[in-house]
Amino acid sequence: MGSKAVFLDRDKTILLPKGGEKYIYRVEDFHIPDKFIGALKKLIDNEYLLFVITNQGRIARGHLTENDVEELHKCLDSILKQKGVHISEFEYCPHNPRGTLHPYNIVCECRKPKTGMIDSIRNSYDIDVLNSWMIGDSYIDMLAGKKAGLKTIQVLTGSETYSKYADFVETDLVKAVSKILIG
Ligand SMILES: [Zn+2]
Repeated sequence: MGSKAVFLDRDKTILLPKGGEKYIYRVEDFHIPDKFIGALKKLIDNEYLLFVITNQGRIARGHLTENDVEELHKCLDSILKQKGVHISEFEYCPHNPRGTLHPYNIVCECRKPKTGMIDSIRNSYDIDVLNSWMIGDSYIDMLAGKKAGLKTIQVLTGSETYSKYADFVETDLVKAVSKILIG
């Protein structure tokens, strides 16, 4: 029957940019509110596996490197682990067909709204898809989630307007988690 899971977008879903910056590139650029960590802990306590899936196509434009992404994930992982939150996998897509940097400037199967990152996780974990969720701030997260058969919640901590692929719209991660747990 498999495990329930929540697939989480990263930027402007679980991480907020620091100091009015638009993008999160490196460790020094992000902020995670304590209440967001608390919300993730509630999912763990209710036996959801957590996966972070993030498009980092700016690698293909030369704004950051895979090493920067991995450093950030290591740092985030250690912050979360101290509070009892285990992320089962961090997956990122470094590609962007409009990028300039070889070998990243390709059409790939992992860049959301494609489902490659979700599919790859499902190949390694036994996931109960019908009881699993995608949370993200953008329409591409909602579309990827829908295509993968997940229930979707759009959070309004990004700049996107309401997506027709969202099953629910909530103000932030805390409210999204309440939706999942309370219904
Ligand atoms: Zn990709």
